[in-house]
Amino acid sequence: MFNLTQTQQQDLLTAARLARAQAYAPYSGYRVGAAVLDDQGRIHAGCNVENAAYPEGLCAEAAALAAMVLAGTTRAHAVLVVGSGDETGAGWTTPCGGCRQKLREFGSPDLVIISANGAAIGPSFTLAQLLPDSFGPDHLPPRLPD
Ligand SMILES: [Zn+2]
Repeated sequence: MFNLTQTQQQDLLTAARLARAQAYAPYSGYRVGAAVLDDQGRIHAGCNVENAAYPEGLCAEAAALAAMVLAGTTRAHAVLVVGSGDETGAGWTTPCGGCRQKLREFGSPDLVIISANGAAIGPSFTLAQLLPDSFGPDHLPPRLPD
């Protein structure tokens, strides 16, 4: 497992909380912020963006991954997700099934996934725990040269 420093965890938490504050969630009221730590030590944040046509909404994790790709990196080491859980830790947010697969595209099964809320950092998982026996780009045959 990729070990995170206290500073990295705190920086991820700060970025995810700031992103959560920008969430567009007028329909569910469920605001989420996510922050991804890439292989260069940079942090990329995203928030959920809902849509009146519900399936067109975007998860915070997907938005953070898009920001990472835009920044020129395709390898993630960790993601921290801040949801609407209360201060007791009830209702810790973990990535939805679709986002677990999106994270698999850019991270190994050892990718660290940390849950947090407005008050504290909660439980941590590896992607393998949340998406066992996953399918990823390493399962595909080599591509032909462009
Ligand atoms: Zn999701």
